[in-house]
Amino acid sequence: MKIALIAHDGKKADMVHFLSGYKDKLQGNHIALVATGTTGLHIEKAGFKVQKLLSGPLGGDAQIAALAAQKELDLVIFFRDPLAKHPHEPDVQMLMRICDVHHIPLATNLASAELMIQQITTTPTYEQ
Ligand code: PGA
Repeated sequence: MKIALIAHDGKKADMVHFLSGYKDKLQGNHIALVATGTTGLHIEKAGFKVQKLLSGPLGGDAQIAALAAQKELDLVIFFRDPLAKHPHEPDVQMLMRICDVHHIPLATNLASAELMIQQITTTPTYEQ
């Protein structure tokens, strides 16, 4: 089970706060975390083991999309900031499209992420 994590700058604190609420469950369920570069740094500082890819604007979103296309992801949590402009918007759109193409669950806000993570961390298949 692998979860990809991405948060735009205005949402990074939300991502860390969100993950902290599931720390025990995420660490005890054979769940691997992968993140775009700066998001990954924040997550790491919060005490999580996470594979860090390139920063989003430098290709990190595209790397996450490639993992999704290869069906190596079970869930993408992408806290987008809908009130900010992003130089890599084409990559953002591409990532979301690839998730839809390959039926990868994609949570783009806190409410949907809560529902999905609860489902994943309470599904017996993923428990130790
Ligand atoms: P970052 O990238 O984690 O490197 O900030 C996220 C993004 O902006 O897509």
